[in-house]
Amino acid sequence: MKIGIYPGTFDPVTHGHTDIITRSLRVFDKVVVAVAPNPSKHPLFNLAERLAMVQLVMKDLDQVDVTPFDGLLVDYVERSGAHAIIRGLRAISDFEHEFQMALINRKLAKTVETVFLMPSEEYSYLSSTIIKEVARHGGNLTEFLHPEVARRLHDRIRSLKP
Ligand code: ADP
Repeated sequence: MKIGIYPGTFDPVTHGHTDIITRSLRVFDKVVVAVAPNPSKHPLFNLAERLAMVQLVMKDLDQVDVTPFDGLLVDYVERSGAHAIIRGLRAISDFEHEFQMALINRKLAKTVETVFLMPSEEYSYLSSTIIKEVARHGGNLTEFLHPEVARRLHDRIRSLKP
């Protein structure tokens, strides 16, 4: 059974992430979505909230597990017996950072491969950061987020307004 680990911050999970997960299930038998605390990114949602949203969005896909993860990614990948790291590639702007990460991970663990998947064009401009910006200005999120995730995001932004 081929297992892929899809790591990220997922603050919050978008249709772009879902698209990558769905595509990875054509390559892997099982995908583990590994949600990182990433305090340096100052997430809007805490780890438990982000995990709950990914779980909600993925609830109908039996081949997808959702788990928290901290520490060195390659250690986690090796420990869990997974076969590869899955990352999404959007515009060219993602490439440099992803290239650097993939190579450093390979240096740290020779046998851990990174597999890159490209999203559908409609999601190729989508990021959690831009979604939060749209939400801050009261924009419609239905095309980008699961309705319950959109509701939680609007609620969070409303609660932070002075
Ligand atoms: P990170 O903090 O690791 O960048 P993210 O939650 O922002 O975590 O993203 C996790 C992964 O999903 C990354 O590989 C990112 O490039 C990818 N990703 C995010 N949004 C999209 C999208 N719209 N299309 C394709 N890949 C995406």
